[in-house]
Amino acid sequence: MLTFDNRFLRELPGDPERSNVSRQVFGACWSPVDPTPVTAPRLLAHSREVAAALDLDEQAMAAPELLAALAGNGRLPGMATYASCYGGHQFGQWAGQLGDGRAILLGEVINHQGQRFELQLKGAGPTPYSRRADGRAVLRSSIREFLCSEAMHHLGVPTTRALSLVGTGETVIRDMFYDGHPVAEPGAVVCRVAPSFTRFGHFELLAARGDRALLQRLVEFTLARDFPERVAAGPANDLAAWFREICERTARLMVHWMRVGFVHGVMNTDNMSILGLTIDYGPYGWVDNFDPGWTPNTTDASTRRYCFARQPAIALWNLERLAEALAMLMPEPGELADALEHYGEVYAHEFRAAYAAKLGLERWQDDDVDLLEDLYGLMHRAEIDMTEFFRSLASLDIGQPSVEVVQESFYRPDLRQRFAGDLLQWLQRYAARLRQEGLPADRRAARMNAANPRYVLRNYLAQQAIDLAEQGDLRRVDDLLEILRRPYDEQPGREAFSTKRPDWARHRAGCSMLSCSS
Ligand code: AMP
Ligand code: MG
Repeated sequence: MLTFDNRFLRELPGDPERSNVSRQVFGACWSPVDPTPVTAPRLLAHSREVAAALDLDEQAMAAPELLAALAGNGRLPGMATYASCYGGHQFGQWAGQLGDGRAILLGEVINHQGQRFELQLKGAGPTPYSRRADGRAVLRSSIREFLCSEAMHHLGVPTTRALSLVGTGETVIRDMFYDGHPVAEPGAVVCRVAPSFTRFGHFELLAARGDRALLQRLVEFTLARDFPERVAAGPANDLAAWFREICERTARLMVHWMRVGFVHGVMNTDNMSILGLTIDYGPYGWVDNFDPGWTPNTTDASTRRYCFARQPAIALWNLERLAEALAMLMPEPGELADALEHYGEVYAHEFRAAYAAKLGLERWQDDDVDLLEDLYGLMHRAEIDMTEFFRSLASLDIGQPSVEVVQESFYRPDLRQRFAGDLLQWLQRYAARLRQEGLPADRRAARMNAANPRYVLRNYLAQQAIDLAEQGDLRRVDDLLEILRRPYDEQPGREAFSTKRPDWARHRAGCSMLSCSS
């Protein structure tokens, strides 16, 4: 059914200890561990695109042995289960060993085109890295991860994917607000899929422990398996050039997050993918009313380390930690500093390209920065919805700009009134800028609509789907999965899924603030 070829296991050293007891693991990149079976697994949803990428047709998706594997209840031929060992900086502090505490890899699948994918169950029970936690995941956070990974892919944002969402039939105890009120919630397991789940933290842990030999091996392995084009390009492709590529990929990823209004919420170095993918969907969120300081993560509310506007700077900070780890292998670590500088250049370059498209400009000019910054200041003060505003802007008549076209993007009538004059002034400046380029209106609108999504997984939309799913009704999950497959298209009849956050959701848990407890 699936063809496995488990290189991570075969080529990197494993933990000789076989018991599933929490421990520090030295001299190994992984520990063997079996998922813990669940009582009543049910396939609640799956991504047909991911299934197709794995050569799984609808019949295969319906097979009991596949469901068993995706629930952690059974093993397919060739499958081997393990948890990987990594560390990380959490909220700016070195946290030591973390590891896959509630993720269990099922091995690596090769599809008929020779593409390789790691499959990983999230929430399939404890591993040697679980510390005192249970290794499980609740349905609400599993739905959020499942839907958002697929939505991000369709938005064109690099991301890990999700094959399946399986209900376990069991409950998981969580104290959502950390206020001493634990509740039994339905449990679930998501099967995540990516070419590699390797994180910055995998390298950091080995360097922190002074294990130079294993660090060298892991770097060579990662290059060979996850960056084959680099190896093929020959010996000029050294460590520094590889790190430079990681900086580039990370810069591109940050531009994507900033252009679509995504806030990850927990940008610890253990949540940074070596491939520059969005990884580990937890208390993430989507910007509604534009606010650079907004963070969806309640744990981050006081310091706002991981708020929307700081993400590009935090990514750089994280790259610096990776550079420190790799420096152990470099005779000339100065090259790593060059690569870190390159991060800023790539970010600036890609950001201009992305925002030229969002604003419908053919070419970005230097003073467009002022135009954008003034807009951002205004959007913040006037509490304007980011997604709605940029999408509506494409309909502006640049011969006769008016605030009408972006009416809907205001949350508060009083602020709409107060800022209408300022906004009109901005729209006039913007229209003049567009007239200077002379792009025909239909071409400009097409360019903007391909860059400004109509549909994103707004926090309240995910929460509505969760509320229904917890009652046993999965239809909203299916609807969202379907709608978010074409985020840049107008979808007549589905306008309700693009409306800005309703009032009831402004302060509701899951809609504007999220806890790490998942
Ligand atoms: P996160 O903040 O979700 O990226 O998780 C940080 C660390 O805590 C990782 O090592 C996770 O594997 C671990 N972890 C988070 N939740 C659980 C859980 N319910 N059971 C076991 N380990 C967990
Ligand atoms: Mg994590």
